[in-house]
Amino acid sequence: MPNVCQANHCRWASDRGRLMCIEHWRLLPGAMQGAVLKAWSALPTNAQRLSNLEYLEAAADAVEFIATKEGRLTRNAFRELAKRVKAQELKTCQ
Ligand SMILES: [Zn+2]
Repeated sequence: MPNVCQANHCRWASDRGRLMCIEHWRLLPGAMQGAVLKAWSALPTNAQRLSNLEYLEAAADAVEFIATKEGRLTRNAFRELAKRVKAQELKTCQ
């Protein structure tokens, strides 16, 4: 994903692969920031994060939180990726 804030319709740059610009990040509840940061810092690259269910779900929750707050609930790429990763994990467990 490009280094741009992932909150819906926001075009501000985010810092080095971080999820959101500082303005949107500040709107998140502490627990949500914590969940994103924990999963984010556990993996060194964005490619790894984008195939990690914990990170994807934390990011999807955060994006949805902002979207709901701003009344602009639209497509959530993180939620879709999370569903795909989950389906993949289910397959490999069988
Ligand atoms: Zn933003």
